[in-house]
Amino acid sequence: MPHSLNTVPFVSVENMMRLVLDKGVETCMVELAAYIEEDFRRWPLFDKTPRVASHSSDGVIELMPTSDGIDYGFKYVNGHPKNMKEGLQTVTAFGLLASVDTGYPVLLTEMTVLTALRTAATSAVASTYLARPGAKVLAMIGNGAQSEFQALALKAINGIDTVRLFDIDPAATRKCIDNLTGRGLNLIACATAEDALEGADIVTTCTADKQYATILTDNMIGSGIHINAIGGDCPGKTELHRDILLRADIFVEYPEQTRIEGEIQQLDPDHPVKELWQVITGQIPGRTGADAITLFDGVGFAIEDFSALRWLRKTLETSPRSVELDLIADPDDPRDLFGMVMREQERMAG
Ligand code: NAD
Repeated sequence: MPHSLNTVPFVSVENMMRLVLDKGVETCMVELAAYIEEDFRRWPLFDKTPRVASHSSDGVIELMPTSDGIDYGFKYVNGHPKNMKEGLQTVTAFGLLASVDTGYPVLLTEMTVLTALRTAATSAVASTYLARPGAKVLAMIGNGAQSEFQALALKAINGIDTVRLFDIDPAATRKCIDNLTGRGLNLIACATAEDALEGADIVTTCTADKQYATILTDNMIGSGIHINAIGGDCPGKTELHRDILLRADIFVEYPEQTRIEGEIQQLDPDHPVKELWQVITGQIPGRTGADAITLFDGVGFAIEDFSALRWLRKTLETSPRSVELDLIADPDDPRDLFGMVMREQERMAG
């Protein structure tokens, strides 16, 4: 939708849902994965910094900025595992894209739904480069808000046809199966995580617990499997037993952030890890053999959100799913901000 310089397109949760439904959720994630890959290929030119985190006993609030020199983006996101029991989301987010040239915002959007889409698309991109060719069976551990998106991205992008699900709360698994029924996946509810891993080519762990949890233990991990560990994304919050990490080839987004937040916080600070962007550009190999255990220690990095914001801006060129926000002061004389406020008083009076 065309917009003037002093208004900013805003995508509400309602409009985001409609935009996703207009296109289809799988199409959105296929398109998003392409944007993420494109940005990972030009990784060196981005401003990169570990996200700015404000921790509390129950959760974390984070700001995630980056820029490619032309656009600047940031996301505000929280992670509060206890929220779900109170009927609130564990993760909520909104974000903004701005022009580096003028510093003016060019897009403001909800990012709770968008984060689920981009996190799933990122797992799928990692799986494309790291999972065994021909992978068909996904074990999905943690069947909460992210889980359906993860399953559908791996179906659409990686060709997964079977999902084996486990959650400590059977109601979450039932919800996930209900939501995924009729979408071309063979869905199997499992009684334990170990059971879910039976015959799996890929396992995605997507649980929320603010502790060093051991969702997967070493004995569950057979040779050749690829792990997307995305639930551990905070200091003191991990999902995998340390022994798994010692057997795996570990791939990360941005090591400086992942060493603080990822599974690898359990390892020595100099334990070797590989950067996913270098696999995508062909600078280093991904999977080295059929028996290798590969781990994508995904914590979520600002560049993925930047890719999502770019994708959304492009999508809005042909979609009506935004409204214009009066966000930027626009006095006739740029130095007369005060006069602009006073003239509004006259308008209000008369
Ligand atoms: P959610 O609260 O909606 O769901 C989490 C699920 O995990 C719940 O159903 C819960 O019952 C289950 N669970 C908890 N402990 C478990 C265990 N031991 N075994 C099996 N299941 C267990 O949360 P969500 O929005 O789906 O997010 C999941 C996690 O992913 C959170 O920790 C969140 O911070 C993280 N996350 C990461 C990224 C990223 O980019 N890496 C992005 C978004 C969310």
